[in-house]
Formats: sequence, C-alpha cells, structure tokens
Amino acid sequence: MSRDTQPVAASREEQWSRVRARLRSAVGEAAFNSWLRPLSVSSGENGGIRIVVPTRFMRDWVVKNYADQMHSLWCDECPDSGPIDIEIAVAADAPPAAVGAEAEARDGGLDLDIDPRFTFANFVVGKPNELAYAAAQRVAEAGTVPFNPLYLAGGVGLGKTHLMHAIAGAIRTRLPGRRVVYVSAERFMYEFIRALRYKNVMSFKEQFRSVDVLMIDDVQFIAGKESTQEEFFHTFNALIDQGRQIIISGDRSPSDLDHMEERMRSRLGWGLVADIHATDYELRLGILQSKAEQMAATVPGQVLEFLAHRITSNVRELEGGLNRVLAYSNLVGRPITLETTQEVLKDLLRANDRRVSIEDIQKRVAEHFNIRLGDMHSPRRARAVARPRQVAMYLCKQLTTRSLPEIGRKFGGRDHTTVMHAVRKIDELRQADSALHEDVELLRRMLEN
Ligand code: ADP
Ligand code: MG
Repeated sequence: MSRDTQPVAASREEQWSRVRARLRSAVGEAAFNSWLRPLSVSSGENGGIRIVVPTRFMRDWVVKNYADQMHSLWCDECPDSGPIDIEIAVAADAPPAAVGAEAEARDGGLDLDIDPRFTFANFVVGKPNELAYAAAQRVAEAGTVPFNPLYLAGGVGLGKTHLMHAIAGAIRTRLPGRRVVYVSAERFMYEFIRALRYKNVMSFKEQFRSVDVLMIDDVQFIAGKESTQEEFFHTFNALIDQGRQIIISGDRSPSDLDHMEERMRSRLGWGLVADIHATDYELRLGILQSKAEQMAATVPGQVLEFLAHRITSNVRELEGGLNRVLAYSNLVGRPITLETTQEVLKDLLRANDRRVSIEDIQKRVAEHFNIRLGDMHSPRRARAVARPRQVAMYLCKQLTTRSLPEIGRKFGGRDHTTVMHAVRKIDELRQADSALHEDVELLRRMLEN
C-alpha cells in the first residue's frame, strides 16, 4: 500500500501514537499520565496539527512544558508538518472521569478501557474506605465469587469508579481469559432503549450472556426508570444464577435508593454492601502525598497539610487543587508556597470554606491558653500573651481565606509583617515543641467541627 493512498486522518493518528510513545518515555509515566495521556490530535488548518486538551489549565501547562518537545518530535516524524496548535476541547473543564462518554465513542463495545491511573496500588487506604478496598481486592483475587453482588456505596468523588477499574485491571492481568464488562447505569439504559427502538433486544441480552464479571457504575441513575430497571433486574438475576460476579456502585446504600423497586433494592443488598465514607484528614493527606509522589513533584508538607485541611469535599477536588497548584508553580517558575496555594485556589477554598471566623479563632485560643480575649488586640508583648496571639494568627492564616493585612487589622491593627512573622514562628516552633504542636492540633480540630 502506497503512503499516498492512506487517509490523512489515519496517518496523523499513527504519527501521533509514535510521538506519544516517545513523549512518554521522555517525560516518564507519572507526568505522562497526568498531562499528556488526555491529549488527542486532529488535522488543523493548512495541514497543521491540532492537539486538543481537555481544560485550560492543562493547556497552559502543556504549552509551557511540552510544546517544544512535542514540536521537535513531530518534526522528526514528519518534517513538513505545519504548525502545532494546542487548543482546549469544546466541553472544557468537564470532569475527567468521563468513562461513559469515552465508551460511547467505541461503537457499542462494552468492554472496559481501563484507566491506568486507577489501580489498587494507587488507591490510598484509610479508615473511611478500608472495607470497600478489602472487598474489592477480595473480588479481584478470589477464584470463586465471594459475595454477590459487591455493592460499593459512597458519595461522588470518593473512589467508586477507581476501585471498579482496579478490580477490572487486576482480573485482566491475572485471568486474561475472563470477560469483564463495565458500564455506567446511564449507558446501560441508553443501550437498552436503543435496543428497544431498533427491535434487537435479543442481541442486547446476548452482550451480557458471556460476561464473567459485570460492573454497573452509578446505579442510582436508573432509579425511577421502570423499564430499564426491569431489564436490569433480569440481567442481574440471570448472571447471579450462573455464578457470575456482579459489582455495583451507587451514591447511597441500596435501601436508600428512592424510586427503586423494592425487589431490586433487596437484591442489591444481598451480597456485601461496602460503604465508602467521607474522607478524613489523614486519608486526604495520604492521598495528596501519594499523588505528589506519583507526579514526582516536590510540595512542602505544610502545603499538603493545608490542602488536606481545607479541601474536604471529595477526592476529585483535592486532586484538582493539587494539580492546579503544581501547574501554576511550574508556569510561573516559582516553588510552591502556602501563599501561592491560597492565591491560586481562592475559589475552591471559598467553596470548601467551613466559615471559621477570625473571632471564633481568637475566642477559642484565648480560652485554651487562659488569657483574656482583649489580649488578642492589646499591644502587650509578654510571652504569656504574645505566644497565644501568634497561635491565633497562625490558625487564622490556616483556617480562613483572610489575607495577612486583614488578619493584622483584626489583631489590634497590627501590620501584615507581624502576622507573617507569627505564622513562620509557630511553624518553626511546632517542629521542635511537641506540646505546642499538640495545642495547635487540638485547637484546629475543635475549630473545624
Ligand atoms: P466516584 O466514582 O466515587 O465518584 P472516582 O473513583 O471517580 O470517584 O474518584 C475521583 C478521583 O479521586 C479519581 O481520580 C480517583 O483516582 C481519586 N481517588 C478517590 N479515592 C482515592 C483514594 N483512596 N486514593 C487515591 N485516589 C483516589
Ligand atoms: Mg464514578
């Protein structure tokens, strides 16, 4: 076959896959997965190349860090290739885990395209998710079906999809002959409705007959959708009867699924229901440490702790926050500090704000150290009042989104440099003085609840 007869798009794809492979070995797995895996290519104007990036942040980062490298690799592949444009995809800033949408593009096949970031090894285990993790591992490793179904129950962004991919990946490695099918409940419904419309319900059913492991993600989606539920119920029962493993996820436990038929609810709860609880501080910190390590990024412990304290909504936002800070620090070429972190994540932090006020902090700290509230504002410099005052300033910086000058004003009109000094001082003392460290942690916990 002569080169000339190849469709342009196909050869672009091929070039891209070679460029990608070389980029991957040049930048390493972690950076590749974080920044380059999500890119796709298409032909641009005048024979140029268009690289499409999911979000603005990623675009900026990729332009700054990888554009030159990409360009030179591309010139190696294809010396007369035109300019490279790096653009944001139309649906910018959509959540990254659009597994359903991705599957959509692969015309009809339900076999899972496993996300390589979602492995057991990359899943950080803590109290809130240990049962779900252990159950998922058991399912992935067991020769027989240990519990059926395994139902993973937890709020958005807490790792349900991650664990499902991890199970699929582990089974695929260990038992490559097994057919593992993953489908979002939404997709299941879509396929089913399409089958009804085109009168090929038989072939729809067929798809599931040869499945060894069936995973249905976000089952709450079919609550209230009667005919889909009915079909799902039959598929479910048929597979259970044949001893095939079923794994379901939902944003709440089966018994709390409103608008779900009673028989379905009780069926879903037959096996093991493993709750994934909201993250706690330790887990969030562990996740951040592990992500920073995976990306080979140096982030001060203080910044990780700050993020773990302040972004409490879910793990997706936590990761997003860390990514943004890393991208920013790389773009401006400065190391990450607490200050830049607060600046870059202002909006995210506000959304997660627990609304601890400066007044609350002053009051608590004064009580704790047995000084008068007035001493927070007074000019007295005696150690007995100055130290607690510094602790209060430190906590204000950590727990609120107030700027240094704003904090200074609330402490009897002190200068922002005084606040900065207090923050540094307490940080330093905490390393050496374990009693003070305990005091600070205790206060923080009280203020956060
Ligand atoms: P869910 O499906 O429950 O909404 P996901 O599985 O999509 O949540 O998780 C959201 C993001 O958070 C993913 O990038 C995932 O890798 C990450 N994540 C969640 N929990 C953990 C964890 N315990 N350890 C590491 N990463 C996690
Ligand atoms: Mg999910």
